[in-house]
Amino acid sequence: MGVLFWIHWKNAVLNYIILKEVAESHGLIIEYNEKLGWSLSRLNDNTKSIVDSMGLNKEAFSLARMDFSNLSAGGKSSTRKYVCPQCGAIIRTSKELKVICGECLVPFELS
Ligand SMILES: [Zn+2]
Repeated sequence: MGVLFWIHWKNAVLNYIILKEVAESHGLIIEYNEKLGWSLSRLNDNTKSIVDSMGLNKEAFSLARMDFSNLSAGGKSSTRKYVCPQCGAIIRTSKELKVICGECLVPFELS
């Protein structure tokens, strides 16, 4: 058990040393966070000045939150909602249908 723990610990340290060296040789600074460990990375000054000299539009990196929950892979709504105009019952279908409410005997309306 003790030997296994030592091997895991040694591998973790080796992985960290290798990753840190590779990251730093590519212009990143690796920093420690109490919750994440050695996971924080940011550009060093040299890399930052190279990126700044590219004249990139920083607005392009802004993120927007969009609700895709009602979209299928094809980009169209995947379900249709029908409402009975008399009793207000609601049904949802995966395709367009002509449905009659069994209680009111009137056609459901696409909502
Ligand atoms: Zn009804």
